[in-house]
Amino acid sequence: MTIAIKVTDLERTYGSGEQQVRALKKLNMEVPVGQFMAIKGRSGSGKTTLLNCLGGLDKPTAGNIEIFGSELTQLNDDQLTKWRREKVGFIFQSFGLLPTLSAFENVELMLRINGVPFRQRQQRIDQCLGLVGLNKWSTHRPYELSGGQQQRLAIARAIVTKPQLILADEPTGELDTETAGIILELFQNIVETEKITIFASTHDSLVDEYVDGVLQLHDGEILKT
Ligand code: ADP
Ligand code: MG
Repeated sequence: MTIAIKVTDLERTYGSGEQQVRALKKLNMEVPVGQFMAIKGRSGSGKTTLLNCLGGLDKPTAGNIEIFGSELTQLNDDQLTKWRREKVGFIFQSFGLLPTLSAFENVELMLRINGVPFRQRQQRIDQCLGLVGLNKWSTHRPYELSGGQQQRLAIARAIVTKPQLILADEPTGELDTETAGIILELFQNIVETEKITIFASTHDSLVDEYVDGVLQLHDGEILKT
């Protein structure tokens, strides 16, 4: 399989009547397997809506989304939840870590939910914390970590279940330029070591240096480049 994400005539409309917003307008795009791809667009251009649809967190109004050959619009809610748990890792701008859990426990959570035995969990968590350079911080809570460290922890959490795809919504949005660079380098690294596909939204031009390709989103449409 060579195409990770294939989107056909995707529409997402919010509300109705005068309040109606067409957040995505007949959007078509593809992301090849094993690439780090970015989608750039201003605030309100539809990035979050697109990522939520791709990850099965939101339902399109019309159109098709095929991810590694699975047609998402054909799955019922239970199938979608199972698919999401097994195949996708999410990373958000605000990190989304659980404040009362340690770094280790934050990474562990999805493995517990998926019923992975303790010894296997421990091994994989150490591996992931190592990959993001946080082994020494495993007993610390999120508030004891810097913004960059918190995002690295969120990356460890996203990859721990070995998803095929990482969806990252403005992952560097709250970070300074230097820290953002470190995170983007880490993404490059992970695409190599974990053989994963990463699709990230941003409104930062810094991303150009790190990615395999860039799509431009403007008012719910992909601009031809
Ligand atoms: P971005 O992530 O690029 O800032 P969004 O996907 O959040 O863009 O938003 C795209 C458009 O859809 C915007 O006009 C926004 O106001 C609108 N929108 C997003 N979410 C909702 C919602 N839940 N209800 C109504 N309108 C929404
Ligand atoms: Mg957004």
